[in-house]
Amino acid sequence: MTDLADYTTLGLGGPAKTFVAVSAEAGLIDAVRAADAAGEPVLLLGGGSNLVVADDGFPGTVIFVATRGVGYAAAAGGQVDVTVAAGEDWDDVVAAVVAGELAGLECLSGIPGRAGATPIQNVGAYGHEVAEVITAVRVYDRLTAQTRVIPNEGCGFSYRSSLFKAAEPGRYVVLAVTFRLARDSRSMPVEYTELASELGVQMGERAGVSDVRSGVLKIRARKGMVLNPGDPDSRSAGSFFTNPVLSLEQYAQVAAAAAGPVPRFDAGDGRVKVPAAWLIEHAGFGKGYGAPGRARISSKHTLALINAGGATTAGLLALAREIRDGVRAAFGVTLEPEPTLVGVTL
Ligand SMILES: Cc1cc2nc3c(=O)[nH]c(=O)nc-3n(C[C@H](O)[C@H](O)[C@H](O)COP(=O)(O)OP(=O)(O)OC[C@H]3O[C@@H](n4cnc5c(N)ncnc54)[C@H](O)[C@@H]3O)c2cc1C
Repeated sequence: MTDLADYTTLGLGGPAKTFVAVSAEAGLIDAVRAADAAGEPVLLLGGGSNLVVADDGFPGTVIFVATRGVGYAAAAGGQVDVTVAAGEDWDDVVAAVVAGELAGLECLSGIPGRAGATPIQNVGAYGHEVAEVITAVRVYDRLTAQTRVIPNEGCGFSYRSSLFKAAEPGRYVVLAVTFRLARDSRSMPVEYTELASELGVQMGERAGVSDVRSGVLKIRARKGMVLNPGDPDSRSAGSFFTNPVLSLEQYAQVAAAAAGPVPRFDAGDGRVKVPAAWLIEHAGFGKGYGAPGRARISSKHTLALINAGGATTAGLLALAREIRDGVRAAFGVTLEPEPTLVGVTL
C-alpha cells in the first residue's frame, strides 16, 4: 500500500487503495478510463502541495501525474506560446522561462507542485495569477471520454478558483497547459507592495525578470513558503484559507467589529478582499499558535498551517476549525479552505 503522506507536502494522508504513476499522456488517459470503467473513485495527484488527505487514505485509484514535455511556439506580436505537460515541475518551468527572458510567470516563482495543477485553483502570488497568461488548457473530459482544448474564456477563472475546481470538480484531467509569454527581459508590472520594496521599484514599474524571480524567492523563503526540508514551517499546503471577498456592507460590519481600520484590496464588482491573515491574527491566533501541538500555525506566516512532525489530518483540521470558528465569532466572516480536502470536511 502506498502511503499518501509520502506524496503530500504536509506529510499527511493514509494509504491509497490503488496507486498508479503515469509518465506518458496515453498512460494517464488509460489509467483514468480504466478506473472510471471500474467505477473506482479517482484522485489525480501532482506535487500534493494543495491536498489535505484523510488519515484513512483514499478508497480508490490515486493517479500520480508524472508526464513530461515543454514546447515553445512563436505567437502573434512576437510573443511565445509555452505548452507544458501536466507533470512538469512548476518551478522548473518558471526558472526555464525566466532564464530564456520570457516574461509573465516570474511572480509565480517558488510555488510548489506541477504545471497541471496551476489552472485548478488559478495559482497566484505577488499580484499575478496564471489566468493572465494561460491561453488554453488541454484536458481529458471524463464525462465524454474525449480530449479537448478549453480556451482561457471557458476556464471560469476567478480568485483561487476555476471551472476545474468549482463548477465541475473532477470532470477534467489536465493534460497540458499553454501560457502566452512576452519576449522581454523586463517583468510584468510589479503589483505587490512588499515585492516593490524588495526590488526598490515603484508599484506598477517593471524590473528584470530574473530580479523579480530572486526577489519573490527571497520573500517566500522568509515566510516559509518555499519547500525546504530544513524548514519545518514549509511543511504545509501553503495558505490554508483564501482571502474572503466581501461586499462593502459586509466589510463595514467587519470594520465595526474590529473598531479600527481593516486592510482591504479592490476585488472588482464593488467588492473588497480582506487578508485572511489579518483576520486570523486579530481574532487571537498569532504565528506559532497551537504549539507545542503537532499541528500549528507556522512561526513565519499566519495563513500556513503546518505539520510540525507527527501530526494527523484530524489534528490539523481541528486546528483549522478552531481558527475558522474564532474568526467567525470575532468578525462574522466564515473563512474557506484553499486546499482540496480529500475524504474530510472542515
Ligand atoms: C509552501 C507552499 C507554498 C504555496 N504557495 C502558493 C502560492 O503562492 N499561490 C498558490 O496559488 N498556491 C500556493 N500553494 C499551493 C500549491 O502549491 C498550488 O496550488 C499548486 O498548484 C498545487 O500543485 P500540485 O501539483 O501540488 O497539486 P496537488 O496538490 O497534487 O493537487 C491539487 C488539486 O489539483 C488536482 N490536480 C492535480 N493535477 C491535476 C491534473 N493534471 N488534472 C486535474 N486535476 C489535477 C488534484 O486532484 C487536487 O484537487 C503553496 C503550497 C505550499 C506547500
